[in-house]
Amino acid sequence: MANIPHVVILGGGFGGLSTANELRNSLSASQITVTVIDKKDWFMVGFAKLWIINGTRTFENSIGSLNELPKKEINFIKDEILTIDLQNKNVKTSSQNISYDFLIISIGAVLAPQKIPGLIENGFNLYDHDQLSEIHNKLESIESGKIAISIMGMPYKCPPAPFEAGLLIDSMLRKRGIRDSVQIDFYSPAPITLPAAGPEVSKKILDLVNSEKITFHNSCKIKSVESKKLIFENGEADFDLLLAIPPHIAPKIIYDSELAKESGFIPIDRDCKTPFENVFAVGDVTSLTVADTMAVPKAGVFAEGEGITVAKNIISKIQSKDESALFDGKGGCFIESGRDTASVIEVDMFSHSKPSTKLTESTSENLSKKLEFEKERLSKWL
Ligand SMILES: Cc1cc2nc3c(=O)[nH]c(=O)nc-3n(C[C@H](O)[C@H](O)[C@H](O)COP(=O)(O)OP(=O)(O)OC[C@H]3O[C@@H](n4cnc5c(N)ncnc54)[C@H](O)[C@@H]3O)c2cc1C
Repeated sequence: MANIPHVVILGGGFGGLSTANELRNSLSASQITVTVIDKKDWFMVGFAKLWIINGTRTFENSIGSLNELPKKEINFIKDEILTIDLQNKNVKTSSQNISYDFLIISIGAVLAPQKIPGLIENGFNLYDHDQLSEIHNKLESIESGKIAISIMGMPYKCPPAPFEAGLLIDSMLRKRGIRDSVQIDFYSPAPITLPAAGPEVSKKILDLVNSEKITFHNSCKIKSVESKKLIFENGEADFDLLLAIPPHIAPKIIYDSELAKESGFIPIDRDCKTPFENVFAVGDVTSLTVADTMAVPKAGVFAEGEGITVAKNIISKIQSKDESALFDGKGGCFIESGRDTASVIEVDMFSHSKPSTKLTESTSENLSKKLEFEKERLSKWL
């Protein structure tokens, strides 16, 4: 009997879980062995972090366990990945060497607050799951002063999420009856709110945050953070509570490998292949150029779509079919208003000569769809 191909998936986030499930739903355990490796044994939809911040969720009831994967005949190894040996088709973790026939790299981007002097000492990382409860407590106890939300590097995960955070924090403070005593300022290095979504959607997001008296300050490139003070290249700003979106960098194991380019992220095309045979990359760890000028945003929906593309390409190869699936570049990101409604930024990255984006009305139906999106991912993947 021929050997069963071993597919090793590095990272059990959006991209990894999407790939693993698509493969297993299409091929049985006698046709393919699928192994997911992750240093942690849980998965959480990114936007649930904002619900922990506003207190409508806890960490424990927002996660799914990767230990459920073996029930679907997907092996799970909880371990730190240390190196990838592309020549010998081998992955080294802290406890073992694992060889592969197909490799999918889906280890995401790394948050790097240490890149901004003074940030760790003087501010919170809005995207770090370990800091969410403390951020919640700070927001519950603040009575007056200035909250700064500061984007400290581009690209970062889910471009609308920091704006949504601002709107949810506004809502929390309104419910506590202290909104008029707390100023919310938003600082971004970009000239408009959402460069990836284009000027029209950006203007609508600007109007939305302005309507809740959140002030957007554009072109603020951060240099450092001091006690209660942001230092930008072109000025300074005071704060009492700083919620930062730190620079995102490529994981060291990629940066150090032959896969990375200048940015450290792995350049891919729409087939999600790398120059190495049977080695694919998806999600936040990649850089996929669109219309020569921009990249597919770092978002779970895109990592998921790329994962499905990779699974199709592996299945096609195993079945000796000469077909190459391409990532369609379609996806939607929810943006909650803080008034029990949500709108969706609908994106189609490749349909026209340039990406098309649309912002829908903010409705309670869209908020229900957001909850459903999370429920569906957790139940179908784990
Ligand atoms: C607040 C917030 C809101 C968001 N909202 C949305 C949204 O509304 N819609 C949307 O589409 N996206 C959203 N996102 C973005 C989304 O979460 C990410 O883009 C998505 O998780 C990327 O998927 P990925 O598979 O590439 O990486 P990840 O999901 O980050 O998975 C990478 C995995 O690799 C593991 N890993 C990394 N290095 C190693 C190693 N050396 N050894 C072992 N394991 C390792 C990590 O533990 C992790 O589990 C949001 C993100 C945040 C922070």
